[in-house]
Amino acid sequence: MADIIQLLPDHVANQIAAGEVVQRPASVVKELLENAIDAKAESITLVIKDAGKTLVQVIDDGAGMSVTDARLCFERHATSKIKSAEDLFSINTKGFRGEALASIAAIAHVELKTRTEDSSEVGTKIAIEGSEVISQEPAVVQKGTTISVKNLFYNIPARRNFLKSNTVEIRHIIDEFHRVALAHPNVAFTMINNGSDVFQLPASNSRQRIVNIFGTKTNEKLVPVSEETEILKISGFVVKPDFARKSRGEQFFFVNDRFIKSSYLHHAVVASFEGLIKDGMNPGYFLFLDVDPKTIDINIHPTKTEIKFDDEHSMYAMLRSTIKHSLGQFSIAPVLDFNK
Ligand code: ADP
Ligand code: MG
Repeated sequence: MADIIQLLPDHVANQIAAGEVVQRPASVVKELLENAIDAKAESITLVIKDAGKTLVQVIDDGAGMSVTDARLCFERHATSKIKSAEDLFSINTKGFRGEALASIAAIAHVELKTRTEDSSEVGTKIAIEGSEVISQEPAVVQKGTTISVKNLFYNIPARRNFLKSNTVEIRHIIDEFHRVALAHPNVAFTMINNGSDVFQLPASNSRQRIVNIFGTKTNEKLVPVSEETEILKISGFVVKPDFARKSRGEQFFFVNDRFIKSSYLHHAVVASFEGLIKDGMNPGYFLFLDVDPKTIDINIHPTKTEIKFDDEHSMYAMLRSTIKHSLGQFSIAPVLDFNK
């Protein structure tokens, strides 16, 4: 029988990968913000039009890229963040898979403007559509990178039609924006939606960042949490028990400054509120866990919001006892009147 197997052309492979990396405009927001963080930006602006369906733009003042890198960053598996398989065990950057930009460029109209510090006044501007480079030319740009992603899913009508209303899509975008902004309070963030400012977050500390996002009233609701052992450092805040809610509200875990979802660790927090909140109520929290990168695996899913810990049970136990202790220290009186 004749051989029938073929290698897929790059643009097809990229489009397939894009299906996993890019679910909606908010996925683009996440990837671009994370790239700006990895580039050590001090100030990041997110510009959105039509809930990201027409435009997602991220402007950063980070390291920028050379002329060659500006072209190469759109190739699949092109990354400056890891070099070998060993590096996978010591990841300190948000990215490392080298597939976000390749994926995004396969399913949108992308324009990138970038300049490194040492390349005097001139940087480079490149336009790419459906994985195809349309143009690249020198351009006078500021140090850093501006990337504009237009008409997401223009070549995948089924995906484009599947997008939800602008109200829903902007919600997802704001969620991603919150997660990155909370994880990096030392970076200034601005978000502009359809021409008006939504967020203006100056560089500050963790508490101030939370207050700037969720409002002044949040300040008095926060109970600080802090503990450090050989295997785990915990910092951040839980929200006082009186403000626990039925719905899942403001609950954030960050592991090594990366937002993650974990129903197991959520349970540990709920358990630490035992006797302070009613069954079925969910406390709010902003918890930062720092662990040795060797003890976690973040390469479980392309979006990296799930994580595997070597020793999940110890994490659970420590989290639970630390929060219990913090709540006790702040002498939170139990909410005894459950009929209130
Ligand atoms: P990853 O982040 O996993 O490396 P990406 O596709 O997101 O993969 O980006 C590819 C590469 O492009 C990055 O490794 C980085 O070198 C470069 N890059 C992307 N965005 C920026 C940026 N905003 N500033 C500087 N370099 C960037
Ligand atoms: Mg990336």
